[in-house]
Amino acid sequence: MKVNLIGHPKNQLIEFFAELGEPGFRASQVLKWIHQRGVTEFEEMTDLSKLLRAKLAEIAVVEGLKPKTEIVSADGTRKWLLALPDGNCIETVFIPEDSRGTLCISSQVGCSLNCTFCATGRQGFNRNLSSAEIISQLWHVHNELRSDNNRRPITNIVLMGMGEPLLNYEAVVAAMLLMLDDNAYGFSRRRVTLSTAGIIPGIERLLTDCPVSLAVSLHAPHDELRNQLVPLNRKYPIAELMDACRKYAAFDRRWRVTFEYIMLKGINDSVSQARQLARILTEVPAKVNLIPYNTVDGLQYERSDQDAIDRFRDVLLSQHIMTITRKTRGDDVDAACGQLKGKFTDRTHRSAKLAAEAVPLESLV
Ligand code: SAH
Repeated sequence: MKVNLIGHPKNQLIEFFAELGEPGFRASQVLKWIHQRGVTEFEEMTDLSKLLRAKLAEIAVVEGLKPKTEIVSADGTRKWLLALPDGNCIETVFIPEDSRGTLCISSQVGCSLNCTFCATGRQGFNRNLSSAEIISQLWHVHNELRSDNNRRPITNIVLMGMGEPLLNYEAVVAAMLLMLDDNAYGFSRRRVTLSTAGIIPGIERLLTDCPVSLAVSLHAPHDELRNQLVPLNRKYPIAELMDACRKYAAFDRRWRVTFEYIMLKGINDSVSQARQLARILTEVPAKVNLIPYNTVDGLQYERSDQDAIDRFRDVLLSQHIMTITRKTRGDDVDAACGQLKGKFTDRTHRSAKLAAEAVPLESLV
């Protein structure tokens, strides 16, 4: 089996070349070829000796994921279904805006967390993605957009696609190191955002290994409701989560943790819940993203009315908490938050179980 170098961050490439008796700067050379120039053939890496190129071709490959389909939404959002070697598929979404372009990347095939409102969670879980498969999503879209001059390039990356990134820790960190590396993509830490449902030990480790912007999917102001919506809360309850966020934000005085809060009609969108939310956020440098719920087939949730969303936002603003309502993008092609499903075999059999038992909404409130 040849080793695929596309997912190797610099430290791993340095090790790889050391074993071949080559100096460390080969790593930077190869990173540039792969990630900045989109070159996959060692033969074309002309600043390496002919001998080394031949050797590399014998033992290694540079292999990205192949796109199966690409769909463009009416609002310009683009969604790619990318094929994995094992036959599963994952989704990656590019969201162009006036002044920026955001790429939304998946970290797992499916998700093991089972949040009750999320399409990915309802589909079950298959496996972790490798660092090669994670960075390939950026590599592929970066190459596509570069050859297409009218479109704006990627300015921000969010790990908000399928999966829970902090449950695939090593591979996600390796991929993020590539995103930040000046010899690869050179994104600033501020422009790479990892979104988590609240894996506390992962948040703590991230601060040492690869601090980037942090988003936390909160969705409820107290444990009783959050236990229902985000079952992970039973393991990592809100008070401890807030503590971890406060420590994380202390990394840099300018940092704020983004709290994502999905707006579900009649469930978590009342004025008193907004006040509760403001109260638990007082100790944390925070900003809040209100996400209008996007419909998921088979679920009975409804999106909060615009009035309710505005009222909720105003309560937070009156408590001096920076709050924005996220614009819904790409929902006509199921590319919006919570709508990504990919195509894969569910090893947990959760999708079949859920289809058999309809969960009455009242049980959640
Ligand atoms: N597992 C990580 C990464 C996924 S991010 C996390 O939970 O943060 C995906 C974001 O979309 C999360 O904030 C999630 O809560 C939100 N989301 C899930 N389903 C949604 C839906 N139906 N409508 C709107 N947002 C949704």
